[in-house]
Amino acid sequence: MVKIRIRLIASVILASVIAHDAFCEEIQQGKRLLLGSGKPWETPIYVNDSGHEGPTVMVLGGIHGNEPAGAASADQIRHWPIISGKLVVIPRVNRAALREKIRYVPEAASDERDLNRNFPSPSIADNPRGEIAKELWDFVVKQDPDWLFDLHEGYQFNISHQPSEGKAKSVGSTIIFDQEQKIDRMVERMFASVNGLVTDPKRKFLLLKRGPIKTSLAAAAIDVLGKKAMILETTHQYQRLPVRTRQHREMMSVALREIGMIDQDLSDVVTPEDSIRSEQIHVALFDDTGGSSRGVNTLSNLLSSRTDMVVCHIDAKDVSRHFLDQFDVIVFGGGSGSSQARTLGEDGKEVVRSFIQDGGGYIGICGGAYLCSAFYPWSLKVVDTHVFTGVREIKGVGRKAMYLRGPTTEVKMELTDHGQRIFGNVSQESLVKFHNGPIVSPMQLDGLPAYTVLAHFRSEQVLYPPQEGTMIDTPAIVMGEFGAGSVIAISPHPESTEGLEEMISQAVRAVKD
Ligand SMILES: [Zn+2]
Repeated sequence: MVKIRIRLIASVILASVIAHDAFCEEIQQGKRLLLGSGKPWETPIYVNDSGHEGPTVMVLGGIHGNEPAGAASADQIRHWPIISGKLVVIPRVNRAALREKIRYVPEAASDERDLNRNFPSPSIADNPRGEIAKELWDFVVKQDPDWLFDLHEGYQFNISHQPSEGKAKSVGSTIIFDQEQKIDRMVERMFASVNGLVTDPKRKFLLLKRGPIKTSLAAAAIDVLGKKAMILETTHQYQRLPVRTRQHREMMSVALREIGMIDQDLSDVVTPEDSIRSEQIHVALFDDTGGSSRGVNTLSNLLSSRTDMVVCHIDAKDVSRHFLDQFDVIVFGGGSGSSQARTLGEDGKEVVRSFIQDGGGYIGICGGAYLCSAFYPWSLKVVDTHVFTGVREIKGVGRKAMYLRGPTTEVKMELTDHGQRIFGNVSQESLVKFHNGPIVSPMQLDGLPAYTVLAHFRSEQVLYPPQEGTMIDTPAIVMGEFGAGSVIAISPHPESTEGLEEMISQAVRAVKD
């Protein structure tokens, strides 16, 4: 209730500040505030007003569409409970480019395609260029922020990048600020704090004191509006998304504390307060060693396109009870179950178990279905599945592990009655992609209840003779209870089978209840 009240106040205050503005109408109707409303690139603006006097801080992400960490972390930071001033966040400024994962504004004229070179700059350009820059600049001017933070990513670590001749050094993993702004103390603290997260000396952050490049948004805020502004760059090559979003959050948490907008470290806050009671389902997607990056991206695109779901990529470092309690469901995709288990470590595995035990949902797909099984010394043992495997001597071939059945293929799958209730709009029989997923049967492990079969394989993939007849009519998808939580283990890959993609979001909804 408290939170709802604060949000209402925020809307009223903002509405009065920018009355006669196009945004005004939208706020009063209680709709989302949009930049570029009605345009193909329209994108949400989130205003978090503390109701207390204090600075206005703007945080922007996704100005370059191939730099997803800025967009993802801004979308997390917008939930931070602030104690003073007003936090205005536009997580996905260049939304069309983010969708296409490209740096530039799609279909823009060649001299206007880099959005972060389209802002005014003394003696270079009096006015912003291009539709997005114009609307964004108008909005920034009206907001009159005291601070502006623009979240970006470079392709290489500035500290160790050796560019080929004629090429500029990438600005990855840097804080770009203007030393004339006398903000060294704050920047030094952000710098020390973020470098505390980085162990490899070749990946450490550097400070670039020369200031943001002219005609960038941050430079325009400094040079034209006389505001404090900086660019926070992570590096998108060689490190997964959770590493990069954590770095952005770390720097922003230090900065907002220095500014007095927050009074505690909020770097591990990624969802709204009381997220598990919100209408949206908050999904933690495991994105770390052992999980296939391609698989993770497929699942991420799929689930985040559902309006009732919010997806956050997490890694093993994030796996603490405190962090996971922000989520309804955790998802482990394809890759290697044993490697995912190694990455989690014994403590991490115990955290995942207790998360489910206390009511969290778990979805495991292929590698993730091996991970949750009851079979291996390293597995989570949260669903009572035995896995068909073992090493056999194959004549003329040598010793082979029986879980391996060759490259990706399509097999027949049939939903059970229970499966049909969960995956309602999928036809009862279908062909589904299969890539060495677990072939399961009851393990009957002490303390684990029997699972319910949601689908059976009705054909099989065989690579070696001893596998013949061992897959057909076995469970393709099972569901089990573990404490107060639910687990769905999916052996094949509906997420990458045309027409079956929706099964994953339906599974997420099923374990959320
Ligand atoms: Zn950028």
